[in-house]
Parts: sequence; structure tokens; C-alpha cells
Amino acid sequence: MTCPFCGYRAPRPELHAHLTDVHPDVVETLTGPGQRRYYQLACAWCDDSWRQEIKPRLRDPGFLEEYSREIRVVAFDQFLYHLEAAHQDHHPPVPTHHL
Ligand SMILES: [Zn+2]
Ligand SMILES: [Zn+2]
Repeated sequence: MTCPFCGYRAPRPELHAHLTDVHPDVVETLTGPGQRRYYQLACAWCDDSWRQEIKPRLRDPGFLEEYSREIRVVAFDQFLYHLEAAHQDHHPPVPTHHL
């Protein structure tokens, strides 16, 4: 599989670790009304994006620091299903340079 964010190629489990370790900023955490918290992740290759509420029991103060890695693990796992389903044979797009 190919990393949509940098073109790194690896089998699924390795790519999952790669995404979690190298691309933490791809998963944004947002705070909505009523202290609801969400994570949000967008595909680099298409317009799909995911926003999911973080479980209420995990909304303790300090949660985001302590569990941000866990959130990324879950978010990227979901994202890898999307890559498999939508971009199975996708090769990294040639970067477009704006002259
Ligand atoms: Zn990458
Ligand atoms: Zn996509």
C-alpha cells in the first residue's frame, strides 16, 4: 500500500505504524459545542473525509494528550479501509508544480 501523504510504500500493518508515527498532524482533534470532541481526517487523494465523535467516557480532562495516539490508531485504521476500497491500485500522483 502507498502512503497518500508522502508516497511511502509498505504492507498494511507497517503503513498503519508509519501513518501513526510520521503523520500525526493529519488527524485533527476538534472541540465542538457542549464539550463534544471530534477527530477529523481527510484523504489526500480524494474528497473523502471523516469526522467522528470521541467517546464521551474518554472526554476526561487531559484525555487528548494521553490518548491522542490511540485516536490516531483508530482513525488511521478506518482510513486504511478507505485506501483499500477506493485506492487499491492507486499510484502516487505526480506532484503538480505550479510554476
Ligand atoms: Zn507517509
Ligand atoms: Zn480517498
